[in-house]
Amino acid sequence: MAQVGHVTLVGAGPGDPGLLTVKGRQAILDADVIVYDRLVGAEILALMPQTAEWIDVGKKSNHHPVPQQRINEILLEKAKEGKQVVRLKGGDCFLFGRGGEELELLAQNGIDFTVVPGVTSALAVPAYAGIPVTHRDFTSSVHIITGHAKAGGELHIDFDALVRHGGTLVFLMSVASAPMILQGLMQAGMPADMPAAMIERGTLPRQRKAVATVATLTEKIQQAGISSPAILIVGAVCSLSDAFDWYDRLPLHGVTVVVTRPRARAGTLTEKLHRLGAEVISYPCIETEIIWPNMPVVEALASIDQYHWLVLTSPAGVDTMMRLLDAAEMDARSLAHMKIAVIGAGTAKALKERGLRADYIPQVYDSVHLAEGLIRLVQEGERMLLLRAEIGAPELPQMLTEACISFDDVAIYRTIYRSERSEELAERLERGEVDDVTFTSASTVHGFVESLPEGTDFTKFTALCIGPSTEKAAKAVGMKTITAANATIDAMLDTLQEEHSHEFN
Ligand code: SAH
Repeated sequence: MAQVGHVTLVGAGPGDPGLLTVKGRQAILDADVIVYDRLVGAEILALMPQTAEWIDVGKKSNHHPVPQQRINEILLEKAKEGKQVVRLKGGDCFLFGRGGEELELLAQNGIDFTVVPGVTSALAVPAYAGIPVTHRDFTSSVHIITGHAKAGGELHIDFDALVRHGGTLVFLMSVASAPMILQGLMQAGMPADMPAAMIERGTLPRQRKAVATVATLTEKIQQAGISSPAILIVGAVCSLSDAFDWYDRLPLHGVTVVVTRPRARAGTLTEKLHRLGAEVISYPCIETEIIWPNMPVVEALASIDQYHWLVLTSPAGVDTMMRLLDAAEMDARSLAHMKIAVIGAGTAKALKERGLRADYIPQVYDSVHLAEGLIRLVQEGERMLLLRAEIGAPELPQMLTEACISFDDVAIYRTIYRSERSEELAERLERGEVDDVTFTSASTVHGFVESLPEGTDFTKFTALCIGPSTEKAAKAVGMKTITAANATIDAMLDTLQEEHSHEFN
């Protein structure tokens, strides 16, 4: 019997990836096929598993949209093939989302489905603009209305009823119709000084808002050049928007940062950047690959007892070492007789996550300081095992050799550079839309440069470097650089905030 398919309708929230629900995220991770819209945020799209089939039915205003009927059929066809299908929509899947229409065909054909409601822009966008949609001092109801005009430009809104109710009014799809709506409300008796606001790209790092009154907002919207997606909010609660403006005040609000770390390691940096309000473009430039088969490592592990020190120079080195131990049917206990030295805090943390403590971390996290420290600490007759990248920093083995320390330098992983080239990122760089690119190793700099078209101008952004050797690599290709005070993610973020604090104060 053919496997039974299933469709999950998921509301992806208004754009901030943190507003995707836990249940929605799990559905995406488990999906075979994902059918998604234009309003789904880029960072949520980045969650989609590489192995899944992605179908973009996004409706761009100047392109022909995929007709609703066709979308309904795609969902049915994929489910009939036995696939786990996720239908991903902006905001909530039902609120002006046509989710109901999509379920009809599935219901008629006996296909199972699940609905995961999403955080709607109608409530979240005001919240990110400092506007509580209800407030006991101002209003006791909120009305959500479509501002979409029917063919011929006519609006079907009962302005008299809305004004009579006195609730907060939230109009979706209202960029084109805002002047008509504001006019209609005033004609129905709304006071001209009633506060009103329009918010563009709400909950996203480039969120903008125009706040005025029903009489003056149209002009303000035109001056600011507000475009879709945006929502219009009318009501006394809009007057709180300055006092409660928490989102625009985040330290990196309006700053766009490219993260080049390998996918597996980008998590903390990306998350912290989000918390500070930055827009993050995830652009992994390198991945690491275990070197296997690998005779030198097999020999080193077979005679692990002869070593007194184990030296690790990256979190990837720690991961790979554990995998190699496992492959050799060994575990961390085989390392118990050795002291472990690491290059910096990141490597020490990776080690700690596996229940191992570093015995030595240099004050300054680079190979020269690591080598100096080891030379000081190592006793007569002790031997070291270095487990590193294929092309590791040359200083470490050089300095150990000069100090007559006996060691084996074994390559356990190699760096592979990003293979797809990105025209899209190149265009954004060219337009000056990227403020900073983060580099956490010299190899991320090489991977980044190699992945962009020839002739890309590397002077249009600032390279935020983790340490001196990364900085050197960035300078060598003409980038402007700023460098963290010590080689940690937190120090990088401090440097970034320092750079941008001058702009906003
Ligand atoms: N189902 C969606 C709404 C779809 S209609 C929801 O629940 O949010 C599309 C309209 O939603 C847009 O025209 C705009 O008015 C609004 N919208 C969606 N995302 C938005 C955002 N990030 N900022 C401002 N408005 C947004």
